[in-house]
Amino acid sequence: MDYSKYSVIVVGSGFFGSVIAERVASELKKEVLVIEKRNHIGGNCYSEVDPETGIEFHTYGTHIFHTSNVKVWDYIQKFTEFNNYYHQVLTTFKNKVYQMPINLETINQYYGLNLKPFEVESFLEKEKAKDRIDHPPRNFEEKAISLIGRPLYEAFIKGYTKKQWNKDPKELPEFILNRLPIRKNYNESYYYSRWQGIPKDGYGKIFERMLSNPLITTVLNTNYFDIKDQIPKDTILIYSGPIDQYFDYKFGKLEYRTLRFEKESHPYDDFQGTSVMNYAEETVPFTRIHEPRHLHPERTYGNTTLTIKEFSSLDDGSNPYYPINDKRNTDLVKVYRKEADALENVYISGRLGDYKYFDMHETIDAALTLFENGIREKLK
Ligand code: FAD
Ligand code: UDP
Repeated sequence: MDYSKYSVIVVGSGFFGSVIAERVASELKKEVLVIEKRNHIGGNCYSEVDPETGIEFHTYGTHIFHTSNVKVWDYIQKFTEFNNYYHQVLTTFKNKVYQMPINLETINQYYGLNLKPFEVESFLEKEKAKDRIDHPPRNFEEKAISLIGRPLYEAFIKGYTKKQWNKDPKELPEFILNRLPIRKNYNESYYYSRWQGIPKDGYGKIFERMLSNPLITTVLNTNYFDIKDQIPKDTILIYSGPIDQYFDYKFGKLEYRTLRFEKESHPYDDFQGTSVMNYAEETVPFTRIHEPRHLHPERTYGNTTLTIKEFSSLDDGSNPYYPINDKRNTDLVKVYRKEADALENVYISGRLGDYKYFDMHETIDAALTLFENGIREKLK
């Protein structure tokens, strides 16, 4: 293959790489090569149809698109329409089902009360006073207890978090909890975002459309590290794989969390009545059960449903999904970042490249920003 004809080589066809490739081709009219090691485009957002039930599911875990960022919303709509799916999550604790994120219904149901919104604050204050800490929260556990008190934390957060991260919540940073709002009303929406939904014809089509420009060549089943010596040194490289791997782990390995999924079909048209049911207790080995038919209320599926149990574990290097932002990894990534920033013509970014817990809209925003504030100028 002649790598010298490409102005930009992009490693990874997830949102980060695909947005950059699309922008360079359609805005700057330059040739781009996208290298993807998997046998499909789309990174972790990929979706496929289960052959047995005909139900579309997200191969690497349920992905709900949500954003309040106008720039991202305007951009993504060029490539897909969204359905009217609205994300709501429930959690099972001791064989009872509760609303998640914790809202007034969760609190009232758990304590057997009928508090009004204006009574919640003083009620939780009394619960929190039992575990008062005299300094700002220093970790995930302290933050959770300072928000909702120990009983709700132990029921709905502690076990789930331990299973999800394989770490004691005391070792995790408090910001992970910022993803999970605590509500003193009956609002059941998982997100506060202005727009949300699932692509009407699946995530795969978004990536097909993004990469359809004739100036973009995509090669699958190709690992960048196997061909990197053939790439001319002055080519602009956008790398969206793990940052530590780019540097051959020379300062040590970053840890990632991975997921394992168990698919099952059932002879009913509805198994659990919702797309995601969390399981709060540590003794239940999986974190949640997905039922993907609920992601597409606008579609008609048959009478057999599909469920997917999600198990979380530390990655052995084969399938890195989630950066683990504890102190060791946060310190280590700063060392790699310094090296990355010193490189000429190489941009290391995306969820694995930045080692950040980006949602899709944040990944798209980061790619659009890099294009506008770096790549556009560089390729002029
Ligand atoms: P990725 O999607 O990981 O893409 C990176 C690509 O690079 C991959 O295709 C990989 O194969 C390829 N690659 C890596 N190394 C090499 C190499 N050496 N050579 C060639 N190719 C390589 N976001 C939301 O907004 N809502 C959600 O509900 C949501 N749920 C999620 C659930 C799970 C389980 C996970 C893991 C993430 C979820 N996200 C969600 C986040 C979303 O997946 C990311 O924001 C997005 O996929 C990041 O895109 P990316 O391009 O940075 O990385
Ligand atoms: N969380 C929890 N109980 C739940 C759901 C979430 O304790 O039922 C915590 C958990 O620590 C998780 C964090 O809240 O890592 C953020 O949840 P989110 O659903 O955003 O995680 P995702 O799976 O999307 O990364």
